[in-house]
Amino acid sequence: MQQQVDSMAAEYGRTPSLVVIQVGNDPASTIYVRNKMRAAEFCHIRSQHLSLPDSITEQELCAHISRLNDNNDIDGILVQLPLPAHINEDTIIRSINAEKDVDGFHPDNAACLWLHQPLQTNHKASIYDPVPDYGCTIACTPKGILSMLASTGVELDGKRAVVIGRSPIVGKPMAKLLLDRQCTVTIAHSHTADLPAVCREADILIAAVGKPKLITKDCVKPGAIVIDVGISRLPDGTLSGDVDFEACKDIASFISPVPGGVGPMTVTMLMQNTIDCYKRRLNGKH
Ligand code: NAP
Repeated sequence: MQQQVDSMAAEYGRTPSLVVIQVGNDPASTIYVRNKMRAAEFCHIRSQHLSLPDSITEQELCAHISRLNDNNDIDGILVQLPLPAHINEDTIIRSINAEKDVDGFHPDNAACLWLHQPLQTNHKASIYDPVPDYGCTIACTPKGILSMLASTGVELDGKRAVVIGRSPIVGKPMAKLLLDRQCTVTIAHSHTADLPAVCREADILIAAVGKPKLITKDCVKPGAIVIDVGISRLPDGTLSGDVDFEACKDIASFISPVPGGVGPMTVTMLMQNTIDCYKRRLNGKH
């Protein structure tokens, strides 16, 4: 990625740039923002951390975003979630110019994913370029998961996929991406009856819930690929995924750990999205 950024900067006379906005001092957010800033530095992407006080009003935050929207030298804007309770997250996400929405959460980007088929129908997924061009920004976590799936070398076409969780930032976009890779997709959620039986149908099982060790060995079909998105902090301070890793690792053909699995891939895709926004803005198309 560094070489890609350096050669684009030399060709176009400007380096891709990212602004990460953090409101307040939530310790988990501080760690996530720090990781994103480090990744940007590593990739030679120009980055700025805009740290704003908890007391900021929604209107003031929108004014900051508006200024960044209007700044031609900024390619990507990310607002670290969650925001304090007095600020409406939906309003803030909508206030970001969709062209600069590197998280892919803006309704224009979400709608683009759901309404369109990828532009390159013959795209062959690779770890570095997991998603064909939809002409818009795809949310980083599901995009990173496609990259992990590509790294297994397993053909996705025709596979049964079960995605547990239906949030707009992970579960739903994940399901659409797998659908577009010719999987037969089930989305499970908190009202799903007999979750273990549904999960056992899966060749590809993706858990995006936030409930430690919800997925036990009884949920995994032998040879399945298991991707664990969940991150929960346990009372002893350690992190846990949604999957009981130790119990499932010998049943699955591939399994992702927490921490160290989906999280770093999400940050990598954020860098890729920043580069893609920069390229689309240079080409004057979105
Ligand atoms: P979310 O918005 O809270 O969604 C959780 C989903 O899980 C909901 O759809 C919910 O169903 C479902 N669910 C809850 N309990 C369930 C149960 N017992 N059985 C089946 N489904 C159940 O969470 P999110 O934002 O998608 O995040 C999910 C997890 O991934 C969290 O731990 C989060 O921290 C983590 N995460 C990690 C990354 C990363 O980069 N590694 C990125 C994003 C999120 P209902 O819709 O019925 O309520």
